[in-house]
Amino acid sequence: MTNQDLRMTAQRKVILEELRSVDTHPTADRIYEMVRRRLPRVSLATVYRNLEWLAEAGVIQKYESAGSQRRFDGNPSTHDHIRCVECGRLDDIMADPIPDVEERIRDKTDYRIVGYRLEYLGICPSCRASSAQGTGGGASD
Ligand SMILES: [Zn+2]
Ligand SMILES: [Zn+2]
Repeated sequence: MTNQDLRMTAQRKVILEELRSVDTHPTADRIYEMVRRRLPRVSLATVYRNLEWLAEAGVIQKYESAGSQRRFDGNPSTHDHIRCVECGRLDDIMADPIPDVEERIRDKTDYRIVGYRLEYLGICPSCRASSAQGTGGGASD
């Protein structure tokens, strides 16, 4: 990567600021909507390109999980995630990593392990609240 590539352009800066202003792990489309409020003339292609650049540079993370749209994470450090099975909301879990995960599976595969990703599944607070409403939630209401 050359020096020129490392330049943080004004567009890139806005994209990074918008991504870091939320912890919702938005998709590129969603980030585009956010960025467009500040840069009305920006194109979706530009947003995509800059997100890829930022991920390559290790400033942000791409979060890809099977069967869902790629999302972006403004937090570049290693952390786990929990995903709502009802609405797809994705939140961070800041917990100590489970020790020796890679050692534990090393004998069980011919792959060379390059990393792992832990995603917990659950039902988020707002989905829990709305399902509680739907079922009445109890007699004493
Ligand atoms: Zn939910
Ligand atoms: Zn995250």
